Amino acid sequence: NCIFSKSLPTPLKGPLRLAAVSKDAIEGVLNVDTAVTQSDEFLHYASGGRLLPGSVPLAHRYGGHQFGYWAGQLGDGRAHFLGQYTNRKGDVWELQLKGSGKTPYSRSGDGRAVIRSSVREFLCSEAMHFLGIPTSRAASLIVSDEPVLRDQFYNGRVKTERGAVVLRLAKSWFRIGSLEILAQSGEIDLLRKLLNFVINEHFSSINSDDPDKYLVFYSTVVNETAHLIAQWMSVGFAHGVCNTDNFSLLSVTIDYGPFGFMESYDPHFVPNSSDDEGRYSIGAQANVALFNLEKLLAALRPVLSQKQQREAQIILKGYVDVYQMRIHQLFKAKLGLLDEEEDDGYLIGFLLKMMEDTRSDFTMTFRQLSEVSAQQLHNRNLTQMWALEDLSSHKLFSDWLSMYLHRLNVNPRYVLRNWMADSAIRKAEMNDFSEVELLLHVLSSPFVTQETAEEAGYAARPPMWAKRLKVSCSS
Ligand code: AMP
Ligand code: MG
Ligand code: MG
Repeated sequence: NCIFSKSLPTPLKGPLRLAAVSKDAIEGVLNVDTAVTQSDEFLHYASGGRLLPGSVPLAHRYGGHQFGYWAGQLGDGRAHFLGQYTNRKGDVWELQLKGSGKTPYSRSGDGRAVIRSSVREFLCSEAMHFLGIPTSRAASLIVSDEPVLRDQFYNGRVKTERGAVVLRLAKSWFRIGSLEILAQSGEIDLLRKLLNFVINEHFSSINSDDPDKYLVFYSTVVNETAHLIAQWMSVGFAHGVCNTDNFSLLSVTIDYGPFGFMESYDPHFVPNSSDDEGRYSIGAQANVALFNLEKLLAALRPVLSQKQQREAQIILKGYVDVYQMRIHQLFKAKLGLLDEEEDDGYLIGFLLKMMEDTRSDFTMTFRQLSEVSAQQLHNRNLTQMWALEDLSSHKLFSDWLSMYLHRLNVNPRYVLRNWMADSAIRKAEMNDFSEVELLLHVLSSPFVTQETAEEAGYAARPPMWAKRLKVSCSS
């Protein structure tokens, strides 16, 4: 009465095929030998045909704001929570099947998932994990011959596809919408109960006796969500459906649907073809997350005092700064910029503007900037650097490039080696000051390759006689 309803998976009809397993998720998260997945038994466990001992499958009731509006009760309409799984390290993971049939929350849906969307969720969960981005995981993908009818609601025409089930894993599947439904329907005791559970299970640094625990919880979600969105942006990931029911309370990426990785750089990139207004364009994600965090605060209001509500508002105001700080760090790292210089924000913004103008590939522009040598950049030797070739067509590319090369100057080519000073001194003693002058000139631009310096051998292996040189304070 009710955060969960008991609901049994409807087994996928055979013949079943194991389409894919993630060795890393099976072995690293579940601590099970991957060989186990080759058994017939596994096919059934991972597609809803058989239950692990002790498993009581549940469907979770949640609500959510969809495309800006309160959508009322939603809930797991095609997913079954199988239970908590404790691995050998003692980490608790929540196992879910997705595509495992109708639940009390399916409404008019069929409770199934097609191969197309299941392959996408399976691959992207694991891809995000390996990119180092907090995410739910996918352990296996099982497909069947069971036909699944997709009508107008899904892709504009009736089409028969095949069903699939993904076994997916997360530390928690609770969403902003999990709390919203309880606040919206005035189930405040239940709201408090769920919050206490989530905090006890997943926010170990929060003391359960702390009178401000809900505030600390809120502050953590605000911070972690800002970090997550910045990480999405740093790899060009657009989630596609940033509704509050798809935003995790643990700030991990969940519910992969019409997501997309941006190719040509475009802040207006919209991966979901039914998002006509571009509400969830890649460039809107930071703001949409702010909207979602406002809705989270609204859901927490019944358990916060007046004073705590005011403090929560201040925490929410800090979101933009946390996000900006994080995105700045991440993009600086993408450009190989260490420490902090005043113009770094300008350098990054300038590059992104050129990328937008030239529709340069987001992933490869940054990758190639990290692979190309400063010398190649300087000489515009960009063969096989296709993204940089596109970028270099911009009329301001040279301006940006000189700023960037200047900024990258951390490894000098020329320093005043003893033998160089000695050589200049010997000439100076005979009234020939030309090498002193040359050295001054060269060492004034220690990061720049210079022809005269190269001719003098200043970047070459030192001459043999250099080894015999000694200097002392009496000299
Ligand atoms: P999503 O946009 O995938 O986050 O889903 C929004 C809501 O629709 C969730 O409550 C889903 O469980 C539900 N839903 C999506 N597809 C189906 C389906 N095939 N059958 C039943 N419910 C579904
Ligand atoms: Mg526990
Ligand atoms: Mg969802």
